[in-house]
This record gives sequence, structure tokens and C-alpha cells, in this order.
Amino acid sequence: MRVGFLGGGQLARMMALAGIPLGIRSSFLDPATDACAGVAGDLIVDAYDAPEGLDRLAASADVVTFEFESVPASSAERLASRVDVHPPARALEVAQDRLSEKRLFERLGIETTGFLAIDSQADLDAAGRPGVLKTRRLGYDGKGQRVLDGGDSEGAFDDLGGVPLLLEDLVRFDRELSAIAVRGKDGEVRCYPLVENHHAGGILRVTHAPAPDLSPGLQALGERYATALAEELDYVGVLALELFQVGDRLLANEMAPRVHNSGHWTIEGAETSQFENHMRAVCGLPLGSVAARGNSTMVNLIGTVPDADDVLAVDGAHLHLYGKAPRPGRKLGHVTVIGGDWRRIAELAGAPAQAAAR
Ligand code: AMP
Repeated sequence: MRVGFLGGGQLARMMALAGIPLGIRSSFLDPATDACAGVAGDLIVDAYDAPEGLDRLAASADVVTFEFESVPASSAERLASRVDVHPPARALEVAQDRLSEKRLFERLGIETTGFLAIDSQADLDAAGRPGVLKTRRLGYDGKGQRVLDGGDSEGAFDDLGGVPLLLEDLVRFDRELSAIAVRGKDGEVRCYPLVENHHAGGILRVTHAPAPDLSPGLQALGERYATALAEELDYVGVLALELFQVGDRLLANEMAPRVHNSGHWTIEGAETSQFENHMRAVCGLPLGSVAARGNSTMVNLIGTVPDADDVLAVDGAHLHLYGKAPRPGRKLGHVTVIGGDWRRIAELAGAPAQAAAR
């Protein structure tokens, strides 16, 4: 089988690497000549909406998939007219717009944060309430967001670019969790154990897997939500659902129609990684077990990379460097620690203390 990827970053790289032992060849369309997935397959350098690049990608693959959700609709359509595309364009459309996403959550009985569509400063003034203001489109890692405490909304509409917004209730959550599920072509859905995530500055820093003190009821609820989404969207591949835990409730924050940073622990920490399961799913192969192999912690390497000697001196630490040039705020790699001193890794990675608390 040959899999083509729109995007050649670290997610495509880890999916392609997972495909190699299965005999799957990968190709990537990415505008960057140094796209880090290039070491794991054939890199086609062109814009994401360039007809020639899209046609070359389609010709190089039996199935095309994505490593990010901001795929131009015209690109997804052009690809779909030539080759199988998974996940479906509708999953991308829903995930690209926070309002459609919230409406879908509501329709499927997935509890979510209260929200209000904001299309002007006048809407915001009329709302007159605290909350988290988010751009409806193209927000990620906390970008395009502002927390309002109620009296500071003046000018906020223009500050966020004068584009359609969503005002969400500010949730006083106990913790942040995520559910990662995979759905095969035959409709089978498997869900990894829910994990606990810690962010700093809107960027994921640490994931504990499985989430400590996870009740069977909470796991079942997370699975029910992720399964409802996957089935409704006739989804094929891995999808992630970010959740807020409030007592014994789960409130959906957002979905990602792709493999997810909070699932990187699965490479060593689960029987089958999210990357391999995504490749299996889009190629129509049987899905692999999603059971955890003990407790693991994933620490992101953001902006700088610690000395490999120091990381590898920690028993149970597995280092993954993405081969990307260092830049502040950039995801350069991650370390998964199984049954070892993850606090030492968090310290080496400069993860803020609150992100490392457990
Ligand atoms: P997002 O880009 O929607 O994933 O938001 C980034 C981070 O901001 C989340 O992981 C939460 O830590 C925080 N956040 C987002 N929305 C809310 C909300 N409605 N209430 C409280 N915290 C939020």
C-alpha cells in the first residue's frame, strides 16, 4: 500500500515510520523543502492548494490522509476526485469551525461548554458576560483566544481580527483529559485509555497515560462520546477529543480529526501506537490492541532540546526528536517515560512545575 499525506511535519513522520514495518510506503505534500517527514518517504514540495502538487500526491498514493485539519476544502475535493481520502472531508469541515463542532456535540448528546456565536462587537457587548473568546476558525495551541473576566470586552472583537468568534463559558475544570479513538473501514471503533493533559501557555506539555484515578464510568463516557463522533462522521482513522473533567462529568472542548499530541505515549506505552492504528485504518487493515502497557508519561520538548545524554540516562525514557530547527514555542520532540523518573525528564525539558504536577 502507498499512503499520501497532506503535510510533512512530525505527525506525518511518525505515521510514516509506523507504516514502514507494515510494508506501507509514504509520500508527503508540504511547502517546506526541509519538512521533517521527508526522511521517512517521498517529499513533494508544493503549496497545499497547488493543483500540480495535489495531483502528484494523488498519483503517488492509494489512499490520502492528513496530519492537520486546516486543509483547504478545494484541496480535499481535488484529492477525493482522484484517490480514496480518509478521514472524510466532513470531519475536516466540522473541526475547522468551532461553532459547527459545538452544534454537532450538542446534537450527539455530547456535553460541551456553554457557548454563544459572536459576529460583532455589539454581540459581545450584548453578551456582557465573562468567558473564553475564541476565533471560530484557525485557532490552535491556545492561539486566537482571550479570557474575558466580564468587564474587559471593549475592542476584543477587533483585537481578535474582526472575524466570527465564539464566547465559551469559562469552565472551572478538575483536570483536562483526552480520548483517542480509531475507527476502521468496517466500522469497528477502539478507544485508548483516557489520558490526563497539562498545558502551559496553551501548549500541551505533559500527558499522563492512563489518566491517574480514572473511574470506569469516566472511561466509558469518554468512549461513548468519541464513538458517537466517529460513527456520525463515518470516520476512518484516528480522532481525538479534548475534554474537561468536572466531577463525574466530561465536557467536550474540541475534536481533532487526526492523530494527536496527547497520543504520542502510545508508541511505547500501548500495544499498538495511534500512528500504526491510523495507518492500519486508512489502509483497511485490522486494528491493533489499544491496551496500555503500564503507566507512561509523555513530556513535550518545546523550543529547545535537552542533552540527549541526560535524557537517555533516565531508565525507561524514550527520546523522539523530530529533526526540526529550534524556534521558541515550536514542538521539537517528546520523551515518553515508562515506569521511570518522569519528573527528571520534565525538569530537563523545562516543563513548568504546574504542568509537571500530578
Ligand atoms: P483550545 O485551543 O480550545 O484547545 O484551548 C486551549 C486551552 O485553553 C485548553 O486546553 C484549556 O486549558 C483552556 N481553555 C479553552 N477553553 C476553555 C474554557 N471554555 N474554559 C476553561 N479553559 C479553557
